[in-house]
Amino acid sequence: MKRLVALVSAVLLVGVALSFGACSTVNSHYNGSKAHHRPDGFANLDGTRQEEPFSRLATWQWQAMRAGLPKPPYQVIQGYNFPAAPRQEAFLKANTAQNTATWIGHATVLMQIDGLNILTDPVFSERTSPVQFAGPKRRAPLTFKVSDLPRIDVVVISHNHYDHLDTDSVRDLVKQAGGPPLFLVPLGVEKWFHGQGIQSVKAMDWWDQHAVKGVTFHFVPAHHWSSRSPFDRNASLWGGWVAKSSSFSFYFSGDTGMGEDFAQIAKRFGRFDFSAIPVGAYEPRWFMQSQHVNPHEAVQIHKTVGSALSLGVHWGTFELTDESLDQPMVDLPLARKALGVADTDFVLFQHGETRVLTPKN
Ligand SMILES: [Zn+2]
Ligand SMILES: [Zn+2]
Repeated sequence: MKRLVALVSAVLLVGVALSFGACSTVNSHYNGSKAHHRPDGFANLDGTRQEEPFSRLATWQWQAMRAGLPKPPYQVIQGYNFPAAPRQEAFLKANTAQNTATWIGHATVLMQIDGLNILTDPVFSERTSPVQFAGPKRRAPLTFKVSDLPRIDVVVISHNHYDHLDTDSVRDLVKQAGGPPLFLVPLGVEKWFHGQGIQSVKAMDWWDQHAVKGVTFHFVPAHHWSSRSPFDRNASLWGGWVAKSSSFSFYFSGDTGMGEDFAQIAKRFGRFDFSAIPVGAYEPRWFMQSQHVNPHEAVQIHKTVGSALSLGVHWGTFELTDESLDQPMVDLPLARKALGVADTDFVLFQHGETRVLTPKN
């Protein structure tokens, strides 16, 4: 029964957006000279668009239900239960001198670069869903509320899926002490912000850049898709973010499958001191491969973009797909070993963990 309810909510919350209806929007940013622009929205760098027929989604959900997937996390079975790291609230609020990274959970990372406080894909809600009474529920402790953070200068949004663009979290950030942050968003997502009455937003296309104090932000391609309703599939853009100062470089890939994106990013930006790359939501491969990398592919991205240190994100927080919530704890070490990457070069943090980062490139 529980699974049936989950099935129905999954179909409603994910499936409807993923599978029904053609995109019926007009792309007001359309520029025919750009290969990834379409009159009704956007496409991947290789020209593909995520347009799954409903039958494939139904097949996945049916197979998962019959197999009883996802299985409970192994570590929970063993009583581990994702213990949070001690919160470094006072240090983070006072810190302007050191570069730091804090994993809040899922794809939400607080980066402090040259005194600028940057937040990726803020999700502080209990569920990643259009409504808070249904949809994937938080399965690990929420370590920070917005009020526990230093004042955020810049929020970068990778795309408009509910586990990356969360209404309540954005509203809380707008109300933060000291005034709203600047939201840097993919083309088309600014309309959602304007609809919320938020004006401190800047829409960017792939390879666009925008400087805030000493940090330059670049929006870069990823192999994914977008949607918040049955009628807006691929209407707004998706991607990753690069933040570079004179002494430090950060790459956040957003949600992505494999593609030529990473070689192009490496060509333009050279190496990165620190990256946040997804390592969760990857099973079953026949359904997920084109939109979500697995840990093996994540380590390949780490190598392709020349990341000195990478953090695995998009795991351990919300149960979105068939693998157990802590499967990346098993699969990432195997991937590092297979690809010859040192254990200390692609890591997982505990929820809420902060590390001070030193430039390495
Ligand atoms: Zn997504
Ligand atoms: Zn996601």
